[in-house]
Amino acid sequence: MKATTPSSTRWPTISKDIAALPVRPNLADYDEACAAFTWDEARGGLSGLPGGGVNIAHEAVDRHGAGALADREALRFVRADGTTRSLSYAELAEETGRFASVLRGLGVQRGERVFSLVGRMPALYVAVLGTLKHAAVFCPLFSAFGPEPVRQRLQLGGGRVLITTRALYRRKVAPIRAELPDLRHVLLIDADDEPEPGTLDLAALLDDAPPYGEIAATGPEDMALLHFTSGTTGKPKGAIHVHDAVTAHYATGRFALDLHPDDVYWCTADPGWVTGTSYGIIAPLVHGVTTIVDEEEMDADRWYRILAEQRVTVWYTAPTALRMLMKAGAERAGGHDLSALRFVASVGEPLNPEVVVWGQEAFGLPVHDNWWQTETGGIMISNYPAMDIRPGSMGRPLPGIEAAIVARDETGAPLLRDGEIVLVTDPDAMGELALRPGWPSMFRGYLNEEERYRKCFVGGWYLTGDLARRDDDGYYWFVGRGDDVIKSSGHLIGPFEVESSLMEHDAVAEAGVIGVPDPVAGEVVKAFVELKPGYEASDALRLEIIGFARKRLGAAVAPRLLDFTTALPKTRSGKILRRLLKARELGLPEGDTSTLEVGR
Ligand code: ATP
Ligand code: MG
Repeated sequence: MKATTPSSTRWPTISKDIAALPVRPNLADYDEACAAFTWDEARGGLSGLPGGGVNIAHEAVDRHGAGALADREALRFVRADGTTRSLSYAELAEETGRFASVLRGLGVQRGERVFSLVGRMPALYVAVLGTLKHAAVFCPLFSAFGPEPVRQRLQLGGGRVLITTRALYRRKVAPIRAELPDLRHVLLIDADDEPEPGTLDLAALLDDAPPYGEIAATGPEDMALLHFTSGTTGKPKGAIHVHDAVTAHYATGRFALDLHPDDVYWCTADPGWVTGTSYGIIAPLVHGVTTIVDEEEMDADRWYRILAEQRVTVWYTAPTALRMLMKAGAERAGGHDLSALRFVASVGEPLNPEVVVWGQEAFGLPVHDNWWQTETGGIMISNYPAMDIRPGSMGRPLPGIEAAIVARDETGAPLLRDGEIVLVTDPDAMGELALRPGWPSMFRGYLNEEERYRKCFVGGWYLTGDLARRDDDGYYWFVGRGDDVIKSSGHLIGPFEVESSLMEHDAVAEAGVIGVPDPVAGEVVKAFVELKPGYEASDALRLEIIGFARKRLGAAVAPRLLDFTTALPKTRSGKILRRLLKARELGLPEGDTSTLEVGR
């Protein structure tokens, strides 16, 4: 089957001029940086534990708290009313030590799991790093989860300790507590005078905690974090990460996010997802920069205000948020002084070329897409400040990362010839994106799913489950998830391509595309479209949008069917749930919906 030609290549390249950038990028020459890179050399940017070994919390906090950065703001929390409170590196070192001491006092053992179900407030950040100091394993849950997803994950992860608030405990944990025999301690960060049965008052425990002393000695391969995947393709999997992952967080923070010592950095992801931990906590702290944490939910005016008032220099966000800003109109950015902003990056979903280019209108900067997964623990493929952007492309692999496109057989399995995996060498030919194992933040297993983990590795490659193509110059282009790809009249169609084309129509704010069975074509393309404010759904508009897509994509690839919707189903982390669109369309069971955003 042939794949369709990427329409996104129609967008002109955005050229970079290093001399015109406000700071010299850490990665000034891509090929040189790749040739010079080794993971051992990257470890040189870290300090290691004084007695040997490596601990994420030491690299992120204690070495700065006891050094030249002691008084620098580590975390700056923006409250609902726009006021802020900050923790310096020295304060963060002290508070995380006390949290580690509380865990020791409770008898929590090395490797035991500490969970959180908390919004983005200081206690959460202290708990993550304090847990790592005590050599226990941290697992953050998204605070908007209902009781069922909370139960599922606590059970699967064998949670020993849970940090939460009174309200969340009452609503989401108390009803299922009896089903969680492993859960020994629930620590409430806002306990009041009326004790909640079966819980402890964290503030009181912290007040009484003696100093922790030296960080627990952890080795590079000791388990540090448990992260559940987003559940876009099915039941979430628990990915295991180790302390050596910090080497990758450091290196990718340097190259892909271009962190410099004076940066004010904002990652909008919630720590309930891997991005919010790897790049909302660990990477920026390891680099000693100041990190902004917004305690509130997304709102266009609020976000522009934060970018301006907090003088954010580097911003890491997601396509769904950018599309929402775009829907609100670039003029909303007007009146905000975004002059401090020098780099904008995005992850989590394919980033439509339209959005990359729109960044220039709203922020005066293009958006830099990068790609990774919960399993990879850190950014793998990226656009860099010094490298030309091809809108619609995820960029090129990080120094130290070897990527390839693996050929697939008719069933979608990797193609083997004489027992060897076959790599696609033709530029622009599609296959499964694969990575050569061995980078430090690679997951070390799916918790309790050994077989599933093993199946991810074939012929010396880690198979990502995503389909992509690589162009002549080594830029990678996302086609779709293996499961989302549409087979229509002998063509393989990636939904991203079609969605991006639809978004080029003035009326379209967002689109989700699936294949529906068809007796002649096998499948035909069906689009679900959300309109921008000021546009009314009508048959005339439906035909107009289909015609528009046909002109761009050709009749074989353009949607044959189109429905208007006001709420595309999305995960809590903002990814379009195409499998749910499809199940609903075909009247099939909805499958695991534990990460579905409420009301979608
Ligand atoms: P699950 O594995 O439970 O189905 P998920 O794959 O969405 O959920 P994550 O690990 O959070 O869970 O997301 C990683 C996936 O998100 C990638 O495999 C890819 O499909 C998609 N993704 C992330 N970044 C990008 C990007 N820049 N372009 C295209 N797709 C991306
Ligand atoms: Mg996945």
